[in-house]
Amino acid sequence: MRSTLWFPLCAAFGMACMTIGCSSAFDDEESPEATQDEIEAWNSAYEENASGKADSAGCSGVIVPDRNGFNKRIALTFDDGPSLANTQTVAEILEAHGTVGTFFVNGKNIKTQEHKALLKRLKAKGHIIANHTHTHVNMAQASAATVTSEIERTHSLLKELDLKPRFFRFPYGASTCATADKVRSYGYAVTGWHIDSADWCFASSTGGVGTCSPSTFKHVPNEFRSDIAGFVLSQAQAKGGGVLLFHDIHTYTVSKLDTILSRLEQNGFKFVPLSDTSTFPLLNGSAPKPSAWVGTPCTDDSQCNFTASGSSGFCWTYDDSNLGFCSLECNGYCPDKSGTAPTFCTSVDGGQTGQCVSKASEANHQCSDLPGTDPVSAQRFVGTSTASAATALVCLPSP
Ligand SMILES: [Zn+2]
Repeated sequence: MRSTLWFPLCAAFGMACMTIGCSSAFDDEESPEATQDEIEAWNSAYEENASGKADSAGCSGVIVPDRNGFNKRIALTFDDGPSLANTQTVAEILEAHGTVGTFFVNGKNIKTQEHKALLKRLKAKGHIIANHTHTHVNMAQASAATVTSEIERTHSLLKELDLKPRFFRFPYGASTCATADKVRSYGYAVTGWHIDSADWCFASSTGGVGTCSPSTFKHVPNEFRSDIAGFVLSQAQAKGGGVLLFHDIHTYTVSKLDTILSRLEQNGFKFVPLSDTSTFPLLNGSAPKPSAWVGTPCTDDSQCNFTASGSSGFCWTYDDSNLGFCSLECNGYCPDKSGTAPTFCTSVDGGQTGQCVSKASEANHQCSDLPGTDPVSAQRFVGTSTASAATALVCLPSP
């Protein structure tokens, strides 16, 4: 079983599998079978997440404080490593998709200099290293002394490696108000998830590799029992994006990751780091709201309270549900503001007047921050200015 799983991977990523020796590459962890207690913990975590009660969010290890508005953006997270066999490959797959992941590690797995070097390498590539306790205990059932030492040991280790941990995830999402408070006292953001890949179930030998049996995890609809990519996509579509949970200790997860990510991309999803404040503002400590500017979503003029070049901001609405973005009148040129998408002067009334719009850029996630718009090629409104004719890719409602 090991070699049949491993060889396609070696071929795909051009790794020197033959020289490493396939069985020794898996010495640390591979698809450990879930115990009955773990299965129950996973089922209840799923149910807690599905109920999503806001009043329990402060103590929950499952519920992320940001509940919606993801605009099809997904943060990829991987628990229970690091694994010398898998984690580096996971990172390379993410990099090939132009993104980074967050790795919630167990201190007990950081056994050798090799593990430490692996984590430092990930950090250098922009991945985020986070705390997932030392020995993966169920913190909701542990003594206060154990809770402290579970947080502390991994925390010290990550700090010593200069990995600046900011996020903490409870094993199985199992938390109480007391354990969540304890975690926060170290400066961590308690990090749950929105989308459970259930990779541990698909990978488990209980149902055969690649098949998640109903007796193991009851929340996978029957049509997805042997289709992890379909299961992940269906949840991503239901939630509109969010935090996605995987485990990089499973070779099965590694073998399916590229397929899953490609499937999400084909369906319009984009990947962001967990630290993306525009996708997860509450998780990242509600940053002060940036003041409105050209391109800020709005529903009425009072939300566009700024002036530039002598004219006042206004809310330009463009559909029946009153969606819109802040704009300015313009004549050839529009002012730019640092930290926001560059602007462009165009006309939306057939060339009679000009108004400022945002160019499609990284700052607005290629227009996905402006609901109802897409990158559209537009001509400059020259008006009475001396500006030359130009075109740009801007965020406007699709024609
Ligand atoms: Zn875990």
